[in-house]
Amino acid sequence: MNAPVAVPFLDLGALYRADAPDYDAAYRRVMDHGWWIQGPELQAFEAEFAQACGVAHAVGVGNGLDALALALRAAGIGPGHEVLVPAHTFIATWLAVAQVGAVPRAVEPAPGGFNITAAGVARALGPHTRAVLPVHLYGQVADGPALADLCRAHGLLLLEDAAQAHGAQQDRRPAGSFGTAAAFSFYPGKNLGAFGDGGAVVTDDDALAERVRKLRNYGGLQRYQHEELGGNSRLDELQAAFLRVRLARLAAHNAARQAVATQYQQRLDGLPGLTLPDVPPGHQPAWHLYVVRCAHRDALQAHLARQGVQTLVHYPRPVYRFAPFAAHGPAHRTLADALCDEILSLPMSPLLTPDQVDRVCDAVTDFFTP
Ligand SMILES: *Cc1c(COP(=O)(O)O)cnc(C)c1O
Repeated sequence: MNAPVAVPFLDLGALYRADAPDYDAAYRRVMDHGWWIQGPELQAFEAEFAQACGVAHAVGVGNGLDALALALRAAGIGPGHEVLVPAHTFIATWLAVAQVGAVPRAVEPAPGGFNITAAGVARALGPHTRAVLPVHLYGQVADGPALADLCRAHGLLLLEDAAQAHGAQQDRRPAGSFGTAAAFSFYPGKNLGAFGDGGAVVTDDDALAERVRKLRNYGGLQRYQHEELGGNSRLDELQAAFLRVRLARLAAHNAARQAVATQYQQRLDGLPGLTLPDVPPGHQPAWHLYVVRCAHRDALQAHLARQGVQTLVHYPRPVYRFAPFAAHGPAHRTLADALCDEILSLPMSPLLTPDQVDRVCDAVTDFFTP
């Protein structure tokens, strides 16, 4: 039997309650204004988010998956093209590539790390490779400057999947500013989360931004002007208004996540059998997740559950082990397979208290101490 939850993995209701007056005021503003789609809140949020990402344009869309697929389509990626993607990621990264009719090709994580690197991508390049789609997994930028150099040298599109990396930096440059474009998700559990679905494409490329603006809105910028085979994927006014509140808190929330990560590092470092996440020089992760590795992961997870500590596994298998992409998986056991058997995400939220983090650390320490 598991104990009652003492430390939730992430309490989304508490994130609302912590700033309820501001969210409620945003709701009031939209309701009083009476404009629900493509209005002033979206425009303001797009400007504020573009600035936060250090780029010229942000285009709000319906969700993170659409942000990826629309960015790929706007950049001309489609049938006959191959896109390099991490083996170890959320399935959306691969689904976006499949949706535009291109072929996803797996790049294994760097040994000892979670992300793909420019060296791994260089080895995987093939004659049909047209784009590289790295994921800033768990909130750590995946080799941004080196991947940008590599893609420039080979004439490839670099599209960042920054769905987990709002506010992350490498060499003081924000996630979303390394590639030609980047896709963000505002799914509620992300560092910058809405109260529903949402996403954005960010880019410095004027033409690409305009094309995404058309594709998200029936192929045109204005009503009954249909210039492209577009669709409907918009970020509504309510979510944009909520996201403006949340964006104003992002730096403080990420600093609070950093404090949690620091406490984990200080308390758990050196436990034999436990590997903590590595932060290479120059990186400032957004700490979307705090992921440890342990050869006895399932036993550790069960032990923590009995102590009332909620944990999750992101993700249980590499994408090529799921049915839709099974044809892309090597027959042999891969680095990503091994990683997926060992990873465990500890509770992570800007609202965790030092006492709660101590409670997690006590429970983890207890597992490794006979
Ligand atoms: C959440 C996520 C997505 C998809 O975002 P949705 O808004 O849920 O569509 C894509 N890629 C990664 C890495 C994610 O974590």
